[in-house]
Amino acid sequence: MNSAQYKKELLDKLYKPYKSCNGCHFNMPPATQVVMGEGNPNAAVLFIGEAPGRDEDLQGRPFVGRSGKLLDKVIQIAGNNRMDVYITNVVKIRPPNNRKPLPQEIAIGKPLLLKQIKIIRPRVICTLGSSALEGLLGEPVKMTLMRGKVITWNGISLIPTYHPAYILRNPKELSAFVDDISEAFRLSA
Ligand code: URA
Repeated sequence: MNSAQYKKELLDKLYKPYKSCNGCHFNMPPATQVVMGEGNPNAAVLFIGEAPGRDEDLQGRPFVGRSGKLLDKVIQIAGNNRMDVYITNVVKIRPPNNRKPLPQEIAIGKPLLLKQIKIIRPRVICTLGSSALEGLLGEPVKMTLMRGKVITWNGISLIPTYHPAYILRNPKELSAFVDDISEAFRLSA
């Protein structure tokens, strides 16, 4: 069994108890389903977003709506493919009305995220938006100060960038977003 198959088995095993959960395991209001993540279990780059939105909740896959389309496009601009990375969220259940996840919801989702990171062992983590970064660091962050600055988190290079939904609202930040994601791939090579 190669390393990708082995990691896939570990992830499947990790996800199995949540298959029929719609929020109960996370103390969150009911959603359609849990959105664990998807991609190459052996990925060098792991993207971490905030929480599933409406499209993700319906499809059970992360970043498949408008934000996801933008993320896919920027991954391609950076010369890569969505299939080669792993994509997940710090919170695995859609918060009601797409509100920002509460700190306690992030805290509940974090152990599962840490287990995913331990299995995937990416070379680089790219956090998308402040919820994912705050979730990993365990402290409030100022995205404008931190984006694009590579830090080391538990021995892994971490590059924080904006959430793609923010870029959709503020297209003038697109080039910074492209730079950060390109840098994530450069660091992982
Ligand atoms: N926004 C996120 O943070 N994650 C998704 O999966 C989709 C939109």
